[in-house]
Amino acid sequence: MANDVTTQDFIRFLNATRAQSTCPACGKSPSKWGLFSSNWEGNDDAGEEPVMELLFHRFRKVREEDGKPYGVSTYAMFCQSCGHVEHIYQPVVMEWLNANPAKRA
Ligand SMILES: [Zn+2]
Repeated sequence: MANDVTTQDFIRFLNATRAQSTCPACGKSPSKWGLFSSNWEGNDDAGEEPVMELLFHRFRKVREEDGKPYGVSTYAMFCQSCGHVEHIYQPVVMEWLNANPAKRA
């Protein structure tokens, strides 16, 4: 997909927007975070450059006009010590990446 966010770009976003990597659940600092990305074990579609998997959180109510679900999209990561899962709202990541494009060689 054209709008895929590479794990490299996601890490760039985290490094630029976070003061520290401490896990808010277990307090471990620095915490090691695992990314929900395309290079998870068993994914046959994993490309050369891993991309972040987009999660969709469906709201319970549906759109009145056509009955389709709506909700929000996030990227996610987990603390490798305690399993705490943290979601980052996708539009914020996209906005930051558009304003701070990667310097490609
Ligand atoms: Zn933790």
